[in-house]
Amino acid sequence: MRCLFIIMTLFISALQAQTELIASDELVLAGELRDAALKDGTGYEILESLTTEVGPRMGGSPGDAKAVIWAKKKFESLGFDRVITEPVNFPKWDRLNESARVISPFPQNLTITALGGSIATPEGGLTAKVVEFSTLAELMEVPDNSLNGAIAYISNRMERTRDGSGYGPAVAARSGGANAAASKGASAVLIRSIGTDSDRLPHTGMMRYVDDITKIPAAALSNPDADLLSSMLRRTDEVTLNLLLSVGFVGKATSYNVIGDIVGTERPEEYIVIGGHLDSWDLGTGAVDDGAGCAITMAAATLIKQSGLKPKRTIRVVLYANEEQGLYGARAYHEAHKAEMKRHIIGAESDFGAGRVYRFSSRVKPGALGAIDQINQVLAPLGISRGDNNAGGGPDLIPMRAAGMAVATLHQDGTDYFDLHHTANDTLDKVDPEALKQNIAAYAVFAYLSAQHPGDFGFDLGLENQQEN
Ligand SMILES: [Zn+2]
Repeated sequence: MRCLFIIMTLFISALQAQTELIASDELVLAGELRDAALKDGTGYEILESLTTEVGPRMGGSPGDAKAVIWAKKKFESLGFDRVITEPVNFPKWDRLNESARVISPFPQNLTITALGGSIATPEGGLTAKVVEFSTLAELMEVPDNSLNGAIAYISNRMERTRDGSGYGPAVAARSGGANAAASKGASAVLIRSIGTDSDRLPHTGMMRYVDDITKIPAAALSNPDADLLSSMLRRTDEVTLNLLLSVGFVGKATSYNVIGDIVGTERPEEYIVIGGHLDSWDLGTGAVDDGAGCAITMAAATLIKQSGLKPKRTIRVVLYANEEQGLYGARAYHEAHKAEMKRHIIGAESDFGAGRVYRFSSRVKPGALGAIDQINQVLAPLGISRGDNNAGGGPDLIPMRAAGMAVATLHQDGTDYFDLHHTANDTLDKVDPEALKQNIAAYAVFAYLSAQHPGDFGFDLGLENQQEN
């Protein structure tokens, strides 16, 4: 019996050396950390503070500047060992005024919002006939310059799914609708909001012009207003609408990535990178996008520190600047830390609201899959299952993932996420404090065990890079 035990022990330690496993006492500590996180209110307090004391914080706005000061102070008051700010430059876009009104044959106001990056309409607005297309593809099929100055209206509705997979196909109308419409001779583009709700609140979000195509104004109708416009167009194809957008780029802005470190005891120069993006759109208070991600990761690192655990590697929380308008903070972070990118051991960003985590996926070298399975064992009691080894990691990790960094995704239930995303309804009351705690527990376990993992997770895996939606 004793002999068998010794053989078993030798076998297990040989296996551990071979596949670089995390020590089992660390798994026990991580389990205690997880259970403590489920009873801790720090994350919700952080989110309540951000949405109350700062609120909307569109990149380059006064709210954004306030958010940077808030984040710095919050990291300090939470007891982080080191707080760093790094500048991020980008063009500043502003929204002053926006409205839409059907002039004839059924005069009514419509609820719209300009898409981020849009140019303005002429003063007093632009009045033209509306032509509906059921999809972006349908718009692209009509002959070039055939719309004669009409407003192109793209009416397809995004599909509701748990994993957010309805977003990718639908969002093409937002990002590229103006270019397609302009090439067909339209004077403006209106889209049905990229959202799953039935609230009379439009969803904003970034659009982008391409060179060599005329720039035309672009806006989104709330879902009920899109229905209304389609109903009018079922009665007649002579619907005239006035669209007024007083928006546009106004010079340059500087914001900051705000970084909080819990410095590692044995490998302080190696980083486990978690975080969210500090900016939001201007319409809501950015509770789910992405105040939640900031709060979840700040609270997870705080809990590790406060529990007295000693992470061997540095746990770094990065609050990225201006994700919404084009990953500006993420690109600036990558640029500033290029030389030490290989010391970024693994990363995960929380940027999909505050719904419960249900799956854990990774993108690591094969030799690290054993450690990932161990992390998953500690996550499993939270209702989290093991996903595949092709994780995206989150939008702000795109530049670092492309550079070779290993990543993980803690997949959140996003069933309701696109009811709120980029709308005035993105407010604190939509966040379930218990679900937030479950997220924090998951991030704390992931970050702590990744810091204690004796091996690495691989770098430059040579896998094909995928685009995050
Ligand atoms: Zn976001």
